[in-house]
Amino acid sequence: MKLRVLFLFLGVVFLAAVLMPQASFAVETADSKASKEEAAQIVKIFVKDKFDVAKLANMGLDLPEVKHKNKYVISVISETELKKVASLGYKYKVINPDADSVLRATRAGTLSKYHSFDQIEKILKDAEANNPAVCKLHVIGKSFEGRPIYALNIGLQAGKPAVLIMGLTHAREWISAEVPTALIEEILQKYPSDKAIKELVDNRSIWIVPVVNPDGLVHSQTKSKMWRKNRRLNSDKSYGVDLNRNYGYQWGTVGASTYPGADTYHGVKAFSEPCSAAIKELAEREKFRASVSFHSYSELVLYPFGYAYEAIAKDDQLLAELAKGMAKLNGYTAEKSSDLYPAMGDSDDWMYGAMGALAFTIELGSQFVPNDNEVDKINADNVKSCLFIIEKAGTVHASNHPDFASKVQRAISSFVYYDVTRDVRAATSKTELINLLNPVNDSEGKAFDEFIAEVEKTDLNSKKVLAPVLKEVKDMYTQNIINKLGNTRQVIHDIEKLQNELEKVEEK
Ligand SMILES: [Zn+2]
Repeated sequence: MKLRVLFLFLGVVFLAAVLMPQASFAVETADSKASKEEAAQIVKIFVKDKFDVAKLANMGLDLPEVKHKNKYVISVISETELKKVASLGYKYKVINPDADSVLRATRAGTLSKYHSFDQIEKILKDAEANNPAVCKLHVIGKSFEGRPIYALNIGLQAGKPAVLIMGLTHAREWISAEVPTALIEEILQKYPSDKAIKELVDNRSIWIVPVVNPDGLVHSQTKSKMWRKNRRLNSDKSYGVDLNRNYGYQWGTVGASTYPGADTYHGVKAFSEPCSAAIKELAEREKFRASVSFHSYSELVLYPFGYAYEAIAKDDQLLAELAKGMAKLNGYTAEKSSDLYPAMGDSDDWMYGAMGALAFTIELGSQFVPNDNEVDKINADNVKSCLFIIEKAGTVHASNHPDFASKVQRAISSFVYYDVTRDVRAATSKTELINLLNPVNDSEGKAFDEFIAEVEKTDLNSKKVLAPVLKEVKDMYTQNIINKLGNTRQVIHDIEKLQNELEKVEEK
């Protein structure tokens, strides 16, 4: 049981790291508060370099357009936030003082080409009713306001490589629900006659969640068109958590905000939101080989990691290759997610880092809600990209996918995931922190026990290999403390490095 002692030690050291003044869970000060229901404006902000962009992202701004070469970004922000941007010395230009008016003008008060949540619900129910042999509709969770989160499973053979396609994480990105819906229609329509599609349906388990954030979609389509987040009522009476900053791998403050009113508010803890928790549960059960999450806009195919410039995925080459493959079909540009700007807690980092799925985000079109005459082409081009990745998921996989990774590698992955991205940054008191780190008293602690059990189950040879690795982890933690570098990003890098070394030893 020496391991248990080691883990208690790690827990204490980690606690010390977290309690250090340099730790990254600093509480936002009152003066950074923006009024919660202010009208949004579309603003062009001029930047010198990528660090300027990162600083804006760290303020909690969403930056749908980042033009590094032309040295500007576009953001949708409130007057209060704009004042803060100006006070930091940024030059800016208001493109539109009433962001909602853009959507009002293009949609002329109707949804036109776009589906409402009710219409998508009907499409999904009809799909199941008309094609019972090949698809089944699941409700994988309920939103904050109680709406069902639907997942349509096409291809019902258990054990086949599984792929997840998601849409509408962000409320105002209506087009991101259209592509998954079009994909469902394309597959079901062509299945009986198209040989290639039949092949996919028969040999994959395809899961499509067209609307991850139903409350947000309804709110955006009926009340506040430029709404981004979900509709949680926060403790300060503001609304919404950014679901794409709420996933549990490297959950934190880079490119995300601790301030509930901000557009990229990351929530009180990782997976605090029913919508992200529903995706988590589905992913843990289905063990996806690949996933695509649709957003808008900027015509990009993004791949992990997104949380830091210097965080390079072990499967970087494969991810880049696949992203390029999809980009060739939809005419977009493939790039590493952090090249836009680093942001923590998005779905791709978790899907890949914690779940071993080859995970991609596609930013559709050149505005949140593209004009009606662009919709068919966007759908058709991106359905092709989806079919490409669904096909590839049968032949390639991430090195850390549970079907292929070694037991020890999986154990270490779960250690990285649980130990480093847990809820410590959100803890507000010392007692709370101690409880979080206590292996007996809470559910996070269970992960420690599971990890230890996993290690003890492994054969002697692996244990021998593991022992010096764990010793090195301990030394690194100690070194971190000595150097006062006890930040979680450093720690996760250290552990990932050790993980690679461990695999090298195992291969010998
Ligand atoms: Zn988005």
